[in-house]
Amino acid sequence: MDENCLFCKIGAKKIPAKLVYEDDDIFAFEDINPQAPTHVLICPRKHFAALHDAGPEEQAILGKLQLVAAGLAKERNLLSGYRTVFNNGSAAGQSVFHLHLHLLGGRNFRWPPG
Ligand code: AMP
Ligand code: ZN
Repeated sequence: MDENCLFCKIGAKKIPAKLVYEDDDIFAFEDINPQAPTHVLICPRKHFAALHDAGPEEQAILGKLQLVAAGLAKERNLLSGYRTVFNNGSAAGQSVFHLHLHLLGGRNFRWPPG
């Protein structure tokens, strides 16, 4: 755990959040500023900042983040269209530097994203 990291603190329940899924490897919670009717952030418990900081030992957890997202999308009847997104780096809009997968759904999306 990184003592200065907001999402590590949420995972450790030191800061409140609306948790929607957790297991030994992953926790997921509602985004505080949702950009769609469903906007969930899915995080590995292990702290690393972005996709390019993941090593080969992170292969399984990266896949699991996507599978948890798909499970939530099914549970919430989002299968007509949903997005899973990593923002990597500030120029891509990353503002919290603990890797998190955005699951967005429940509305129509445009392409390309802004
Ligand atoms: P990103 O910009 O990709 O780093 O995403 C960070 C996300 O974290 C944003 O969508 C924020 O709305 C969200 N966020 C920031 N603080 C909190 C919080 N305390 N609880 C839930 N979501 C948060
Ligand atoms: Zn962290």
